[in-house]
Amino acid sequence: MTAIYGVLGWPVAHSRSPAMHNAAFAALGLDALYVPLAVPPARLPAAIAALRALDVAGANATLPHKAALLALLDEVEPAARVIGAVNTIVRDGARLIGANTDAEGLARSLQHASVVLAGARALVLGTGGAARAALVGLAGAGAERIWIAGRRPAHAQQLALELRAHCAPCALDACDLAALPPAALAACDLLVQATSATLGDGVDAQAFAASIPLDALRAEAVVCDLVYKPLHTALMQRASTRGLRTVDGLGMLLHQGALAFERWTGQPAPLAVMRSALG
Ligand code: NDP
Repeated sequence: MTAIYGVLGWPVAHSRSPAMHNAAFAALGLDALYVPLAVPPARLPAAIAALRALDVAGANATLPHKAALLALLDEVEPAARVIGAVNTIVRDGARLIGANTDAEGLARSLQHASVVLAGARALVLGTGGAARAALVGLAGAGAERIWIAGRRPAHAQQLALELRAHCAPCALDACDLAALPPAALAACDLLVQATSATLGDGVDAQAFAASIPLDALRAEAVVCDLVYKPLHTALMQRASTRGLRTVDGLGMLLHQGALAFERWTGQPAPLAVMRSALG
């Protein structure tokens, strides 16, 4: 019988996950289908009941459901609980387990791009869900110190406080996005752009990119923008012009999907096939 997988979102039509996972199933000759599941927030509990009733084999979740799922599953893995978001649902018999593959997905994306994370010092811009995943992923991969930069510095402080114990021995510091500390800029090996500042109509991505003092980074530093539309963001273009290495956000999308695929099927994910399906 065909195994059914899906992504829960609202809206969800834009999701690239169906193309990525269906290409992977086809490449491995698996009898499985991955579908977009448009679920308004009020219907999320009913949608989870439907996953159970229909024996859906596994699922992903995207906006706005990642946090609400914490309360709806039989078990939530520690990393997902710390991040405060479930992006992958894994079935264990009749039980639905909530996992988060975004954190490790980012780490793997960077490692595949030959970025050394063990002992690394990173500057993460943003304090939302993607930033939380970045902190957990980078600390889990052995980063030594991370500065969290928020436009609301108190929020960054709160995040550092909240995640410090989980991220230890990685040191977490908070700072103001509008006044990035020169010491952090000069020391960091990696800058991760995890804000949604450039999303939305009428936003000036060039102005945001220009507000980040890339000139203060070391020549060996890597700039990773989690935004993947456009793929080469204004920040990445400025970093490239400055001669810095860049990593795009599609790598995180690919590797979070690959990790979910491996959890569901027990098989190595066909990365090249999945990457080309992402466009
Ligand atoms: P959230 O809404 O959870 O967080 C957004 C963050 O951006 C907040 O810290 C917010 O600050 C900050 N922010 C918003 N506007 C501005 C601005 N004008 N200037 C400075 N900071 C701003 O979103 P996510 O964390 O889920 O997503 C963040 C980005 O990461 C998105 O662009 C998303 O597309 C991308 N992403 C990429 C993934 C991938 O696989 N590559 C996976 C997940 C996300 P405040 O709290 O003060 O509003």
